[in-house]
Amino acid sequence: MSEADVTVIGAGVVGLAVAAALAARGRKVYILEKNEGIGRETSSRNSQVIHAGLYYPPGSLKARTCVEGNRLLYQLCARYGVPHRRLGKLVAATEAGEEPRLEALASNASASGVAGLRFLTSREVAVLEPRVRARLGLLVPDTGIVDVHRLMELYLWLARERGAELVCRTEAVGLEFTGAGYLVWVRDREGTYAFRSRVVVNSAGLRADRVAAMAGLDVDRLGYRLHYCKGHYFSVCPAKSRLVSRLVYPVPHPQGTGLGIHVTLDLGGRMRLGPDTLYVSEPEYGVGEERRHLFWEGARRFLPDLEPEDLSPEMAGIRPKLQGPGQPPRDFVIRHEADRGLPGFVNLIGIESPGLTASPAIARLVAGMLG
Ligand SMILES: Cc1cc2nc3c(=O)[nH]c(=O)nc-3n(C[C@H](O)[C@H](O)[C@H](O)COP(=O)(O)OP(=O)(O)OC[C@H]3O[C@@H](n4cnc5c(N)ncnc54)[C@H](O)[C@@H]3O)c2cc1C
Repeated sequence: MSEADVTVIGAGVVGLAVAAALAARGRKVYILEKNEGIGRETSSRNSQVIHAGLYYPPGSLKARTCVEGNRLLYQLCARYGVPHRRLGKLVAATEAGEEPRLEALASNASASGVAGLRFLTSREVAVLEPRVRARLGLLVPDTGIVDVHRLMELYLWLARERGAELVCRTEAVGLEFTGAGYLVWVRDREGTYAFRSRVVVNSAGLRADRVAAMAGLDVDRLGYRLHYCKGHYFSVCPAKSRLVSRLVYPVPHPQGTGLGIHVTLDLGGRMRLGPDTLYVSEPEYGVGEERRHLFWEGARRFLPDLEPEDLSPEMAGIRPKLQGPGQPPRDFVIRHEADRGLPGFVNLIGIESPGLTASPAIARLVAGMLG
């Protein structure tokens, strides 16, 4: 590797989107990835949902980038033929106390600019989704699903078309500010060496806190330390996969860490339940049978036709969360660290859900920060 104008650390969906946006502005971009290929971590272990932006505080980075990302992602998918479907989603209130919370969720979403929401009576829910039981429903037309692998391939293609280079099996292991840019220390099969880069974007997902620390930032003082929150998925047997025709979610629990066990569909029509939330000390992706009952209980509240034996352990993903167990939700960190003595260093930390949806909007934001 010779000298780079921009180095993006991490080839997940967000790093690739950022690389494409910066390359489009004429920058010479290197994308460093420690694994053998792109998107081998969180970006390929998620629900592949294009979120509308219901859940995040209006004005937060999560809300803004989700709502904008939703619009941009549909445009991008339509323009370049990335498989996707605007299926819509139903949030189902099943218990009496949940109705006001569903109304509050709709107000929150409207304040964030989510359009087209519609309340459904239990009778209207029954017409739309005959197998779903709900006292009140909220229909969200702009939620959809996307083939995240094809999306990542598109971002990589767009970046490469504009001269970016992807360097796999190469881990960033050190960052040194030289006064006129950065010495980026990397380790590959040949050994450890450094190259110069004027700008560095930290899009290292589960390791973004470590990369920030490499640049000399005190991650504990700044609140950049990541906590790993695992989400398991169970697949539903093909015979029951047609119970619904859109995504179905419960009303989130006020003290819950996630959105509640919900039903997602993939582009092949396969149904899955998940993800739940479990803080773990290190990333590991096992899914044990012992969770089956919990998943069934979570879903049968709104999908009574499901039986425990319809479910099989499928996969898991890890959320890079800024909040630890029991702490209030945190926003994304998307920050140019110039005022901390690191001009040209941008941190993307805590890019959990809705990071996939938000990816084109995050890319725009980062490109704007770097001028
Ligand atoms: C269970 C689950 C469900 C989700 N569902 C959705 C959803 O439905 N919709 C949605 O919008 N979002 C969803 N998300 C969130 C979404 O998956 C993430 O926000 C997104 O994938 C983050 O992408 P990324 O590029 O930031 O990180 P990653 O995909 O983790 O990529 C980071 C990359 O950096 C590399 N890396 C790390 N350190 C180094 C280093 N030192 N040197 C070189 N490379 C390095 C890693 O190998 C990795 O490839 C979900 C997340 C989870 C866990």
